[in-house]
Amino acid sequence: MAHKTEALFRDDAYLGTADATVVAVNDRGGIILDRTVFYATSGGQPGDTGSLERADGTGIAIAATITGETNDEIIHVPALEQAVPKVGERMRLAIDWPRRQLLMRMHSACHLLTVVCPFPITGAAVSEDDSRIDFDIPDAGFTKEDVTARLMELVRADHPIFTRLISDEELAYNPGLVKSKNVRPPAGTGKIRLVCIGENASIDSQPCGGTHVKSTGEIGEIHIGKIEKKGRENRRFRIRFGPMPPA
Ligand SMILES: [Zn+2]
Repeated sequence: MAHKTEALFRDDAYLGTADATVVAVNDRGGIILDRTVFYATSGGQPGDTGSLERADGTGIAIAATITGETNDEIIHVPALEQAVPKVGERMRLAIDWPRRQLLMRMHSACHLLTVVCPFPITGAAVSEDDSRIDFDIPDAGFTKEDVTARLMELVRADHPIFTRLISDEELAYNPGLVKSKNVRPPAGTGKIRLVCIGENASIDSQPCGGTHVKSTGEIGEIHIGKIEKKGRENRRFRIRFGPMPPA
């Protein structure tokens, strides 16, 4: 039977620590807690790493976080040769916050790229130092320099980023909200989480379950490292941190 883990990061992406209770340890050693600050790999964003501290002060290193039988079941995957906790044991959770913060900045930058390049998305992956989004576009004449300049305009404007819940019906009336060609937001759960950018979502809003920074200014300096041709009508954009290196 799948457990339902309370996902604390959905309401507050800035929570780096929390206390929780072990509800199960699966046959592969994966630890399931009643609540967690660890984001589980999904939607192109990698899961968190970090540690679980036991009452005696010893730690269990967590190498990955994934979803289980359902998206609501979050499994903390220990690194090799860690102690196995008991069901009912209390834990102090701590994610690798510097890494998560990089992922939040990168993930938020990906949203900005979909504003600058409003084309159907065919794939995306976020990492600490490089992210990519694939778009269905013929050669639209984009240059790294132009796209970088427009991304940095949005960063410097320091627009707010916030979430809002809408109903399945509202989403059905606004099909344009969904930019991904292959990934549909889960329907039938009643509520869909929209990630909005700008006052009154004036810049963008789209369904997303990931973690984001609270304003575009927090993303900091980014640039397009590369625009690769992946097919006649497909382009892969790579986002990197820092200023664009000289040509
Ligand atoms: Zn997102």
